[in-house]
Amino acid sequence: MRYLSTRGAAPVLDFRGATLAGLASDGGLYIPEAWPTLGAEAIADLAGLSYAETATRVMLPFIGDALSEDELRALCEQAYGRFSHAAVTPLVQLDHDQWLLELFHGPTLAFKDVALQLLGLLFERFLTGTDKRLTIVGATSGDTGSAAIDAVAGREGIDIFMLHPAGRVSDVQRRQMTTVLSPNVHNIAIDGDFDQAQALVKTMFATPALADRFALSAVNSINWARLMAQVVYYFYAAVRLGAPGRAVAFSVPTGNFGDVFAGYVASRMGLPVAQLVVATNVNDILHRALSAGDYSKGVVAQTATPSMDIQVSSNFERLLFDLGGRDGSALAAQMAGFEASGAMRLTNAQREGAAPLFASARVDADDMALAMRWACEHAGQVIDPHTAIALSAARALDLAADVPVVTLATAHPAKFRDAVERATGMRPPLPARIGDLFEREERYVTLPATLAAVGDYVAQHAHPSA
Ligand SMILES: *Cc1c(COP(=O)(O)O)cnc(C)c1O
Repeated sequence: MRYLSTRGAAPVLDFRGATLAGLASDGGLYIPEAWPTLGAEAIADLAGLSYAETATRVMLPFIGDALSEDELRALCEQAYGRFSHAAVTPLVQLDHDQWLLELFHGPTLAFKDVALQLLGLLFERFLTGTDKRLTIVGATSGDTGSAAIDAVAGREGIDIFMLHPAGRVSDVQRRQMTTVLSPNVHNIAIDGDFDQAQALVKTMFATPALADRFALSAVNSINWARLMAQVVYYFYAAVRLGAPGRAVAFSVPTGNFGDVFAGYVASRMGLPVAQLVVATNVNDILHRALSAGDYSKGVVAQTATPSMDIQVSSNFERLLFDLGGRDGSALAAQMAGFEASGAMRLTNAQREGAAPLFASARVDADDMALAMRWACEHAGQVIDPHTAIALSAARALDLAADVPVVTLATAHPAKFRDAVERATGMRPPLPARIGDLFEREERYVTLPATLAAVGDYVAQHAHPSA
């Protein structure tokens, strides 16, 4: 399998190359040259398989000869063996046609573990036996940081620098990052918001003195391997609800458009997906883009769902590329316009391509709280605020009666205890495995949101690559 940049001007890479590179050198994102498909029979054959085996079958076509099937299976078993539920991503029924897909049983209690536990192993596997090192640089609005740090802490050949917006992630989220004291882990609090942190990361990648010398790599959802790992649970859930014989709808709490893009990939691979609901909070750039063709950024509003407080959704570019005829130079021009003015219109091809599959909804704080209460009162389920945004959107959908609707439950409610308590009166306890989080020692530095400050810090603490 070969991987192309959405902006058409970066080298074409194989799976290994695309995994290690993250962002493409022309500023674009890597995407497979063509979508592999699983026929109805291959999908039916997934029934009853373990999560790790499902993952092996769904991901194998993307890997090419970078790994053998047995090597891939061993990595999946290792990655998903660390989850606290035997199903890895269990389904929970809420009412006769509404379901939750619990994606938060990994080590850091958020869905990002599903992809990052595998990515950490892929990095290590691809670096072993070379004299190359990798310097992971990322920006997090909360959950990516802790999941990435957990996935690479103590691994040979890798340093990780994680930027988070100071004071804008929950205490649990911050402590899950800053209490990991392995020497290869570097936490940086940025005086600024998430978009500034993400922009700094992009600038570092475009600075050869850093990017080339330290072999910078990304773990943000711009890394293709992460998206690939997320495709798996769409298959796993849909097969359990009747696919390929029955179509399933998914409602996805959306920020950077990675999780819901994985649902789009599942659909392109042949999974019968009735609808993908892009649920946003009041930071609704994606809702405006999908409902009115208007992709224009506003000012980020802070909400109870920090992982969705985003005004620029990196992965949306992959959808625009795929729907816009896969024309790299046209997309590069469209994105350059957006980067210059902060706004762009979707083309007719992009809008018409998205319309049959995607629906979108903007959910405010009141409707989020209502959804949390509804889940408690009607199904005895305490859900986190991000999940509640998507559940609210799912319940407002008007679909054929026989279509099950699956809401992706992206974080454990204990990660957002204050918001859960405000809405439901219940304070979810921290699961035993992180019960002592508030007693652990923290380590991080606070830096201004400038390339000079952050670039210097990275240059002083990272290890040059051969
Ligand atoms: C990251 C995250 C999201 C948003 O996912 P994207 O792939 O960025 O759209 C939603 N909920 C939680 C809890 C998250 O951590």
